[in-house]
Amino acid sequence: GSVFSHVVRAPEDPILGVTVAYNKDPSPVKLNLGVGAYRTEEGKPLVLNVVKKAERLLINDSSRVKEYLPIVGLADFNKLSAKLIFGADSPAIKENRVTTVQCLSGSGSLRVAGEFLAHHYHQCVIYIPQPTWGNHPKVFTLAGLSVKTYRYYDPTTRGLNFQGLLEDLGSAPSGAIVLLHACAHNPTGVDPTIEQWEHIRKLMRSKALLPFFDSAYQGFASGSLDADAQPVRLFVADGGECLVAQSYAKNLGLYGERVGALSIVLRSADVASRVESQLKTVIRPMYSSPPIHGASIVATILKDRNLFQEWTVELKAMADRIIRMRQQLFEALRARGTPGDWTHILKQIGMFTFTGLNSEQVAFMTKEYHVYMTSDGRISMAGLNTKMVPLLADAIHAAVM
Ligand code: PMP
Repeated sequence: GSVFSHVVRAPEDPILGVTVAYNKDPSPVKLNLGVGAYRTEEGKPLVLNVVKKAERLLINDSSRVKEYLPIVGLADFNKLSAKLIFGADSPAIKENRVTTVQCLSGSGSLRVAGEFLAHHYHQCVIYIPQPTWGNHPKVFTLAGLSVKTYRYYDPTTRGLNFQGLLEDLGSAPSGAIVLLHACAHNPTGVDPTIEQWEHIRKLMRSKALLPFFDSAYQGFASGSLDADAQPVRLFVADGGECLVAQSYAKNLGLYGERVGALSIVLRSADVASRVESQLKTVIRPMYSSPPIHGASIVATILKDRNLFQEWTVELKAMADRIIRMRQQLFEALRARGTPGDWTHILKQIGMFTFTGLNSEQVAFMTKEYHVYMTSDGRISMAGLNTKMVPLLADAIHAAVM
């Protein structure tokens, strides 16, 4: 017998497991709205033109080699990533108070930050929104932090529970880490307004809570990279410290290339350089150094004015298509006279709609209509297209009748 014969089967990941089930479904007409990956109007994965161009430039550059990157990754990529999120004229960058390290997409950035905080920060409690991306509690718990939640979503309004959020952060222990979705909150699609962000900032600074932004959707919420970075920039502008985990999975469509960055904004250049030295001690025994290809693509695009401009156009087109899907789904439900108020489909922001459908309704839609989504009723609007809107609307209509 195997020395591992006692090993029990682990459950599928609740999000990635949706795709596993979808792939097994033999039905010719089926729809996967589980995983947050952009699809074209034809239902196909999209490689951005600007990414193809950058890859051609890289291939034709004979000076490029496959040597190891430094532990912290590609220097240009790190500098340009910080500029992208904090703004080109950010005083924190000019004053060298930011350390940025290339990590394995958003997830890897969260994990490296979690390990660093668990070893070097005085408070091991991290508050995450309720609900949040399902991987957050696992990443932070395994990193050695103690996870608590703050109220975020109000199921009755399908909007922000702002009062609950303020109360929970207001009673958090001084110094606690607070995870904030920079924009396009996953899974709810509900973001604070800029006035609410300002309120949150004041409260957090008054209690010395440590802001940790997860920025997985910059540009995907509004279609503008700068507009979506506003909440982060608001916190950096007060001169205080914060962390930001950036992902290029969605906004450049680089999902499988695993490109992301962790930036930590500090009070002084001296602290920043010591913090960076410790980030290296986290990374080295974990995966030694990050991969070179995806970061080179990003750096090529970010440093070239024309490629950058092209990216913003392609990004806006993706964001706009998602917004059109919101309108089409809303109209289709209205045309069917589906009971209930569905205006949240229009109001929510970013890749996902938190439909309000419960797990029985979701199971029904999957069984009867071959429509796949996570059991919390979250649908990826980026996986929808005009042809499939009627199927989804029929499924929702039948599920709530
Ligand atoms: N944070 C949030 C909120 C996300 O939705 C995602 C992607 N689903 C990530 C982080 C990380 O994604 P990745 O590791 O692919 O960049």
